[in-house]
Amino acid sequence: MNRPTMEDIVSLSKRRGFVFQSSEIYGGLAGFFDYGPLGIELTNNLKRLWWDSLVHYRDDIFGVDGAIIQNPLLWQASGHVAGFTDPMVEDTVTHKRYRADQLAGVDTTDLAELSKLLKEKKSPDGNPLGEPRYFNMMMQTWVGPVQEEAAKVYLRPETAGSIFTNFLNIKETMRAKVPFGIAQIGKAFRNEISPRDFIFRVRELEQMEMQYFINPKDQQEVYDNWRAFAWNFLTERLGIKESSLSWHEHGETERAHYAKAAHDVYFNFPQGPKELWGTHNRSDFDLSSHAKASGKDLSYLDEQSGERFTPYVIESSVGVGRMLLAVLTDAFTRDSVAGEERIVLKLHPRIAPVKVAVSPLLKNKPELVSFAREIYAQLKREFGMVLWDDNGNIGKRYRRQDEIGTPFCITVDFESLANQSVTVRDRDTAKQIRINIDDLPQTLRQKLEQN
Ligand code: ATP
Repeated sequence: MNRPTMEDIVSLSKRRGFVFQSSEIYGGLAGFFDYGPLGIELTNNLKRLWWDSLVHYRDDIFGVDGAIIQNPLLWQASGHVAGFTDPMVEDTVTHKRYRADQLAGVDTTDLAELSKLLKEKKSPDGNPLGEPRYFNMMMQTWVGPVQEEAAKVYLRPETAGSIFTNFLNIKETMRAKVPFGIAQIGKAFRNEISPRDFIFRVRELEQMEMQYFINPKDQQEVYDNWRAFAWNFLTERLGIKESSLSWHEHGETERAHYAKAAHDVYFNFPQGPKELWGTHNRSDFDLSSHAKASGKDLSYLDEQSGERFTPYVIESSVGVGRMLLAVLTDAFTRDSVAGEERIVLKLHPRIAPVKVAVSPLLKNKPELVSFAREIYAQLKREFGMVLWDDNGNIGKRYRRQDEIGTPFCITVDFESLANQSVTVRDRDTAKQIRINIDDLPQTLRQKLEQN
C-alpha cells in the first residue's frame, strides 16, 4: 500500500503550516513542537469532536480543567514520584542515554531481564552499554521565591491527577451518581529519555482523558464499552480506516501493578504499529490511594442499594498530537489527476482544517474578484474556515488545497457573471460541478455533512 514515510508527513506539516519545530530559529528543542495555523484548526476539530461525544452528547460525563501544577502530595499518592520511570541505559563512551526496553526490543521494564538482553547489544553508535536503571520522567520546578526542596513541585505527567482530586467536588456540585465520568483536555509533561518520531513521542504533550467511576461489579461491561468507544470514535467520527488500526493487550509485565486490564488501540504510524489510545481498568487504586493519603473519604454510597464501595475507574486516554499524526498519516495519499501526480490529504470533511476555498479564475479581472469576494464573505460567515486563494494559476491552487485536505474549491469564472453560477470541485475525485450561487450554501452543507 502507498503509505507515507515519516519524512513525507514532517515535510508536509512544515510546508503547509501544520506543525513546526519549537523555537526553530534557535535550533529547536528536542521533544517540543509548535502548531501552526492549520495544525491548530485540525487539532481543535479533533478536540471538539471528542468533547462533544463525551461531555455534550451524554449526561453522565462532566468536564474539568485542572491546574498543571498541583500539590506534590498528589503525585506521591499516585505513585508517580516513586514509579513514573522508564528504564534507561547509557552509552559508556558518548554518555548518550537511551530507552533500555527499546534498545533491547522488548515490552518490559524489568531491569534484570533488560540487563541480560542488553549484554548482547551495542549502542546505536556501536559502543558498549552500561547497566540499565530507572529514570523518573516527571519535570520539576519550584513555586515561590526560594528554590529549595520544600518548594519543589512537578509539572503534571498526565491530566488524570486533577480528575481524581475533583471526584468529590464534581459528585457534589453536579449531583453526579455512579456511574459517571470526568473528562479533561490539557497539557502534560514527560521528560522522555529519547523523544522521537516527530510528534509521536514528545516532552510537552496534550492529552484527552476520561475517567469513568463505576461499581466494581460492572467493570467488564463498562471496560468493553470504553474499548468500543475508542475504536468507533477513530473509525466513525474521524474516518480512520479500520485497516490502519489494531488492538494490543498489555501483558502482565507491561501493565501497572494495580491495573486489572489494559488494551491499546494501535495505529499503523509511519514507524510501525504503536499505541494511539489506551483503555485501562485501574481498579480502585486511584481513589483508595488518594483517600489514604489525604484522609478524605472517597467512598461512594449507592442510595438505592445501600451499598458502600470505593469506585473502580475505567480510563480512556489519548494524546492529541498522536491523534493528529494518525489522521495525517491515514489521510496522506499520492495519486494522479489527469496524468499529473499529486499529494492529497483525504481527511474526513468533519475534521478538515479548511472546509472550502474560494478563487476568482483570474486575479486581474476586478469583476471576477469582487463577485468571488462576495461569495467568500457569505460562506465564511456560515462555515468559518473558508480560505481565499488567488495565488498562481488555478491548477496550482487546487494542488495546494488538495495538500491541506480542503474538501471543496469554488471558482468564479466568466460564466459566473453571465448566469450566477460557480464551479465546485471535489477534492477526492477532482470532478467539478456547476451550481447556482443561491443553492451553494445548502449544497455545501449537505456535502460536508454526508461525507
Ligand atoms: P507510551 O507507552 O507510548 O509511553 P503510555 O502508555 O505511557 O505511552 P499513557 O500514560 O497511557 O501512555 O498516556 C495516554 C496517551 O497519551 C497515550 O496513549 C498517547 O496517546 C499519549 N502519550 C503518552 N506519552 C506521550 C508522549 N511522550 N508524546 C505524545 N503522546 C503521548
